[in-house]
Amino acid sequence: MLRSDETEVFSVINPEGQSDYLLVCDHASNKVPLILNDLGLTPKQLHDHIAWDPGAAKVAEALAQLLDATLIMSGYSRLVIDCNRALISPQLIAPISDGIKVPANQNLTHKERQQRIDTFFTPYHQAINAVIDQRKDRVTKLLSIHSFSPALAESGKDSARPWHIGLSFKGKAELTDLLHAGLTQNKQLCIGYHQPYEVDEEFDFTLIEHAVKRGLDHAMIEVRQDQLVGEQAAKQWAHRIVSALNHS
Ligand SMILES: [Zn+2]
Repeated sequence: MLRSDETEVFSVINPEGQSDYLLVCDHASNKVPLILNDLGLTPKQLHDHIAWDPGAAKVAEALAQLLDATLIMSGYSRLVIDCNRALISPQLIAPISDGIKVPANQNLTHKERQQRIDTFFTPYHQAINAVIDQRKDRVTKLLSIHSFSPALAESGKDSARPWHIGLSFKGKAELTDLLHAGLTQNKQLCIGYHQPYEVDEEFDFTLIEHAVKRGLDHAMIEVRQDQLVGEQAAKQWAHRIVSALNHS
């Protein structure tokens, strides 16, 4: 589905990173392969949160640098295929997202669906698997970096989300609790615990597949998107997260 001059399906930043932390960013990009013609969406729609997690890649990249951690990022929009959804999920290749119909995702044939899985989803997850396998005896603590919309259009006016940052996990709480304890020292912050989302088997494939199934310490970190506007905002959030990880 990709020409040789198009963006890579995934990128591995700082592959020699020495940190115990391994960073993943499923919704880093809003790119669409040329062959899919912007999925039939407008540039504005493709710039919106339905296509990616605005700001998340910048937070993840800043964290990779501050922690000296390896980071794996998906290179394409979640509307091409959502690398954080289980293959059985109806939202894997979303026909509608937050009330917006995605023209190129209507009534896909089995072949079209399989092409997207084979081209984007499988190589991304194989890359994460390979990086974890290579670490062998090293400790790996997985941090999954996302950003969330201040409110969802389809949830109506009362859906404003008060949390500046949200943390969640499945099973192993240690890393989430460490982050939570560190971040709560800043009294200005409203911190979500299992907010805005709980880790879910259908919607959080990456954490389930690569951390929970392997028994790795992990946390999902979601920063609210309006917190990530401006050049320095992502770096500031990365600093806060690193301070929380290092507090004791
Ligand atoms: Zn996300």
